[in-house]
Amino acid sequence: MIRIEHIGIAVKDIHSAEELYAKLLGSPSYKREEVPSEGVITSFFQAGPNKIELLESTRPDGPIAKAIEKRGEGIHHIAFEVADIHAEMARLRAEGFALLNEEPKRGADNKLVCFVHPKSANGVLVELCQEIQ
Ligand code: ZN
Repeated sequence: MIRIEHIGIAVKDIHSAEELYAKLLGSPSYKREEVPSEGVITSFFQAGPNKIELLESTRPDGPIAKAIEKRGEGIHHIAFEVADIHAEMARLRAEGFALLNEEPKRGADNKLVCFVHPKSANGVLVELCQEIQ
C-alpha cells in the first residue's frame, strides 16, 4: 500500500454536499463523474496530498443508497493506492481477506479498483485503487 488515496463519503444530495465540502476544505470540487456500473455520481476534492470522494446513489437499490439506509450519511470507505492491484489482491487473498470482486474493475477518477469486505477489516470497507496508465 502506497498511501491513503481518498476517503469516500456517502451523501444524499451531491449538490449540497459539494457546497459544504468546498467551504470545509477551502477549495471546490475538481471533478464530478458518474459511474453507471456502480450506480453512483462521485465528486472529488483535493485535500493536500489526499482526496475526498463524495458519493450519491443514482438508484434506490444501489450500494450507496443501501449504506445510507443502514447507517445514514458518513464515511463509506477508505481507499489505498497500490502499485499493482493484481499482486495486492493476490496477497490479501492469501492472507485470508474476503474481496468483493474477483477482478479489478474500472472505478471513478481513472482507477482500477477492488473492495475488501468490511467483515475482513473490522467493519471498514477498504478500497484498493491503481491509477490506469
Ligand atoms: Zn472510492
